[in-house]
Amino acid sequence: MSVLVTGGAGYIGSHVVRLLRQRGDTVVVVDDLSSGVAANVGDAPLVQLDLSVSDAVDSLRTVIADHGVDAVIHIAAKKQVGESAARPAWYYTQNVGGTAHLMLAMEAAGVRKLMFSSSAATYGNPDVPPGSLMRENGPSSPISPYGETKLVCEWMMRDAARAWGLRGVGLRYFNVAGAGWPELGDPTRFNLIPIALGQLTEGKQPVIFGSDYPTQDGTCIRDYIHVLDLADAHLAALDYLDRDDRPYDIFNVGTGTGSSVSEVLEQIGRSTGYDVRPTIGDRRPGDPATLVADVSRIADALGWRAHHDLAAMVDSAWQAWEPTHGAPAVRPS
Ligand code: UDP
Repeated sequence: MSVLVTGGAGYIGSHVVRLLRQRGDTVVVVDDLSSGVAANVGDAPLVQLDLSVSDAVDSLRTVIADHGVDAVIHIAAKKQVGESAARPAWYYTQNVGGTAHLMLAMEAAGVRKLMFSSSAATYGNPDVPPGSLMRENGPSSPISPYGETKLVCEWMMRDAARAWGLRGVGLRYFNVAGAGWPELGDPTRFNLIPIALGQLTEGKQPVIFGSDYPTQDGTCIRDYIHVLDLADAHLAALDYLDRDDRPYDIFNVGTGTGSSVSEVLEQIGRSTGYDVRPTIGDRRPGDPATLVADVSRIADALGWRAHHDLAAMVDSAWQAWEPTHGAPAVRPS
């Protein structure tokens, strides 16, 4: 298969590119390199392109023709919740506009298979009984422009399926963590594990955003998924599009098991050797107490499930820390 991967130079995309190439698929990457790193794609061809610019459709048509593309994995997007609240129109331009351009190019070129990176942020702050698992057909009411853009793109895929036979799959990522290779770690510090690792390497202690939630230990529960498992789900989604003509579907990608903030920090202590003594801070606005995936749909339809646990995620994130961020300033004693 010849696969176009947008965002293939980024943290998640680079894992997808490696797995595709390992199994023998041909890959071409499109990335604007705003957060991605060219070296992450190895020797796969890389076209530097911002999908949201007005001539992106023509550029994409050229890439599709030049590389005989027959399927697209669309990961490129802006993904910071806070930034999306500050710059909503820009997020819509980037995420929705970019996806619209991609779909126009696919339609014009007759490429029908699309795997789209969606997010558990589409669920928002669900009004469900404590401990409920998120189901794809349950309510979606995102609370950030970021989550909204992901939901709108899902709808756009559904509509394109009706209009011209697009065969789309959306994967709703839960909390992605870890690294499949040390040089492909998450270079940002936007999520709990990299934030806490960054603080510890600077001689500081992590802060727990609220310990009075209706959960077992009072801290928020999330479904952490190893980036390698997530990348593997992309391959399963492509195979599904190849062998099944269901036009459009959405799947959660998680483990189905939640971990609390306290449990994650305890694991960080075990994986790194730091003496982790978190302080308790205020709740962060908009945080649901619990967000854990029901993973039965992806297991049934794609035959996919996660294989890595929290320890593997934190171990690998820590092994990737130095290669990705430079040496820690303060080592555990
Ligand atoms: N969190 C925390 N301290 C931090 C960063 C995050 O307590 O320094 C909590 C956050 O409130 C949430 C969980 O960790 O309950 C995961 O947050 P993250 O931002 O990684 O992902 P989200 O679930 O918000 O997408």
